[in-house]
Parts: sequence; C-alpha cells; structure tokens
Amino acid sequence: MACDVDGRVLTEEGTVIDGLYAAGACAANIAQDGAGYSSGTQLGEGSYFGRRAGRHAAAPRFLA
Ligand SMILES: Cc1cc2nc3c(=O)[nH]c(=O)nc-3n(C[C@H](O)[C@H](O)[C@H](O)COP(=O)(O)OP(=O)(O)OC[C@H]3O[C@@H](n4cnc5c(N)ncnc54)[C@H](O)[C@@H]3O)c2cc1C
Repeated sequence: MACDVDGRVLTEEGTVIDGLYAAGACAANIAQDGAGYSSGTQLGEGSYFGRRAGRHAAAPRFLA
C-alpha cells in the first residue's frame, strides 16, 4: 500500500483516498517494497510519517 507524505493512502492509480491514513509497518513510504527496506529504519520512518499523518488528520482544512 502506498501513501503520500502526509500518510494519506493512495489508490493504485495514485489518487488520494479521502480520510484514510496509514503509517508504520503497514505503509510503504521510503522503502516502497521489501527489496528497498534497510534494517533499522522502520521506527524512524513510522514515527516521522505517523506524526505527519496525525497532524494532517487533525487539521485537514489547514494543511491540505
Ligand atoms: C525482532 C524485531 C526487531 C526489530 N528491530 C528494529 C530496529 O532495530 N529498528 C527499527 O526501526 N525497526 C525494528 N523492527 C521493526 C519495528 O519494530 C516495526 O516495524 C514497528 O514496530 C512497526 O510499528 P507499527 O506501529 O507499524 O506496528 P506494531 O508495532 O506492530 O503495532 C501495531 C499495533 O496494532 C495492534 N493491533 C493489531 N490488530 C489490531 C486490531 N484489530 N485492533 C486494535 N489493535 C490492533 C497490535 O496489538 C499492535 O499494538 C524490529 C522488529 C522486530 C520483530
């Protein structure tokens, strides 16, 4: 599953699914698949994009 930088889940065509967010191990961010994963990066990535997703979900009208 792919997301944009604010954790918004994208369709296979790359469009945003409004109101659906993902972060952490269930989301593909820096490493788009298992082949790109580098051991030890997940906690940083999960907290960084998790924070961005939370901020966007809490105030979408200010950050959209
Ligand atoms: C042995 C091991 C070592 C690792 N070492 C590192 C490391 O050194 N550095 C690093 O960056 N990453 C490491 N990782 C990877 C990292 O720990 C995970 O990628 C990260 O914890 C994923 O975080 P998450 O919040 O996405 O998911 P999780 O931490 O899996 O959290 C998901 C949560 O959702 C809950 N849940 C599941 N289903 C439901 C449900 N239906 N309803 C409500 N709650 C639900 C679960 O109980 C859990 O608390 C390691 C992983 C393992 C297994």
